[in-house]
Amino acid sequence: MHVVVLGAGLLGVTTAHYLAREGHQVTVIDRQKEPARETSFANAGLLTPGHAYAWASPRAPMILLKSLWRSDTALRWRLKFDPGMWAWGLKFLANCRAEKNRANTVIKVRLCSYSLAETAAVTAETGIAWDRSQSGALYLYRDPDHFRAGKANFKLLADEGVEAKTLEAEELTGFEPSLAHVKGRFAGAIHTPYDESGDARKFTVALAESCKKRGVVFKLGAAITKIERKGDRITGVETDHGRITGDAYVLALGSYSPLLTKPIGLKMPIYPVKGYSVTLPIADPESAPAHFGVDEANLVAFARLGDRLRLTATADFAGYDTSFGPGDFVHMLKVARELFPRAAAFDRPDYWACLRPMTPDGPPIMGPSGIANLWLNTGHGHIGWTMACGSSRLVVDRMLGKQPEIDDTPFLLSRY
Ligand SMILES: Cc1cc2nc3c(=O)[nH]c(=O)nc-3n(C[C@H](O)[C@H](O)[C@H](O)COP(=O)(O)OP(=O)(O)OC[C@H]3O[C@@H](n4cnc5c(N)ncnc54)[C@H](O)[C@@H]3O)c2cc1C
Repeated sequence: MHVVVLGAGLLGVTTAHYLAREGHQVTVIDRQKEPARETSFANAGLLTPGHAYAWASPRAPMILLKSLWRSDTALRWRLKFDPGMWAWGLKFLANCRAEKNRANTVIKVRLCSYSLAETAAVTAETGIAWDRSQSGALYLYRDPDHFRAGKANFKLLADEGVEAKTLEAEELTGFEPSLAHVKGRFAGAIHTPYDESGDARKFTVALAESCKKRGVVFKLGAAITKIERKGDRITGVETDHGRITGDAYVLALGSYSPLLTKPIGLKMPIYPVKGYSVTLPIADPESAPAHFGVDEANLVAFARLGDRLRLTATADFAGYDTSFGPGDFVHMLKVARELFPRAAAFDRPDYWACLRPMTPDGPPIMGPSGIANLWLNTGHGHIGWTMACGSSRLVVDRMLGKQPEIDDTPFLLSRY
């Protein structure tokens, strides 16, 4: 079978890997000149079932409301005329109830844990390198009440098999010596020993090279302008570099997925939520964090990726605008200077922003589309690096008529 994969981000390239491994002919199309040049380019780097909580939660509406009059919040929402955002927002609100939040989190954490094992298997099989760290994640809490709530919330993930150890304030700096100078500022931490981190772009680019060796063809620098549908089949894909056809198609266009499927009658509730990252060269390895993690009070993630320190933060509901300026990074750099003042060369920041393809409930949209030869692998939101290998394995297994190893029915588009 010849399969055309739309998109060469994490989800598109991992899909190509699993298809090629099964001996299928694969063509991957992307408008960028290299794989992983959009959302998979410079994310936080965390592979973390321990951070699989669904964003739609009982606390979310108040956090969003507060962001209307405060500019320093991790979540930024502005009132504007954007029918897509309002339609998505209503579905998001409907998922904020406690029981929905719990159910969506459980669906996500099962996929994350499955995917972590698949990422390890792909790495072992292909031998690719991606600045992998297996130190486990450190979730830092500044306020005792927040720490108590964090521990209570974690029970849901622990029930799903995510292992965690609680570190009281006095144990923290022995565990993470780079925080010794801010000892009194933390109430404690949760350490999830099996969470991992690494460079998603390096992984994707290296996996694409491995795919090429298996015969996968990459049509890069080709923007898809139209998906052609005739009856219940896709007949081809038009690009600005010509038409491409196959027997089956997998859509992995991240935040841009709904723009191309709307004209063929598929409505996908994916909204682009902008996030920002800054990458700094490590200046003093001794002062750099040994663990990766999240400052939960500021919602700033940090990870050492080889000889670089990466910080990420912010969820900005700004439509398809991917622009950024130094002002967007002030908050995360302030946190980085406070936590790791000597670790990095703060005068050499590499800024970046991109769009998380968020579904209103949290789980991605995967599997059959309702159109006979079109498959979906999109909407992975804030945690698509963690979910990539597992998601693509599930989609490919289902495509090829194999029984997926975990239940894939919660990810169907038909749930909306
Ligand atoms: C700031 C930030 C931090 C994050 N941190 C983490 C983290 O720590 N852990 C984690 O698990 N996840 C994280 N994520 C989420 C993760 O990065 C995404 O879920 C993931 O990259 C999505 O991959 P994708 O392949 O679906 O999308 P993309 O990587 O965007 O791939 C889609 C591809 O489609 C192509 N494309 C789009 N339109 C067209 C077109 N018309 N024609 C041709 N090509 C097209 C694009 O060029 C792109 O290459 C983070 C995201 C952000 C923004």
